[in-house]
Amino acid sequence: MTSSTAPTRRLTKQRKIILEELRKVTSHPTADEIYDMVRQKLPKISLGTVYRNLEVLSTDNLIQIIRAPGGQKRFDGDTRPHHHVLCVQCGCVGDVFNAQDESIDETTIVTDFKILGHTTFFYGICPQCAKKKIMRTSSTQTIKATNEHGDRRTCP
Ligand SMILES: [Zn+2]
Ligand SMILES: [Zn+2]
Repeated sequence: MTSSTAPTRRLTKQRKIILEELRKVTSHPTADEIYDMVRQKLPKISLGTVYRNLEVLSTDNLIQIIRAPGGQKRFDGDTRPHHHVLCVQCGCVGDVFNAQDESIDETTIVTDFKILGHTTFFYGICPQCAKKKIMRTSSTQTIKATNEHGDRRTCP
């Protein structure tokens, strides 16, 4: 019996649109944000479907999953090797290219864990928040993790 065994994974229409939408932006959106983007083209798609497709795309190395410290999982359509920077004001995530990461030698660290890899996260203030700060010039510093840029957090 020759049942239809899955050969090479097809890039389904849904998956293709998710990939296209993700590659259009550099904001490293969350699954919810991607869902909002994709829904304009696929009104019937569910969040669960979007999420499953994102997992598949990352397994196939077509996208990257970013785990910002203390934040939600984010997704990146740019698969070139690069690091990320987290804005401590608004929580947006930007790209860092050409950063050497030789500080950690995985063979010399001390842990009971079997190490699978490591990521470096930079912290900073995004250009939008830096601009706001100059405009305010207030001495009272309030660092909030609230979303100051509206619905879609984007690093310019
Ligand atoms: Zn910011
Ligand atoms: Zn990135």
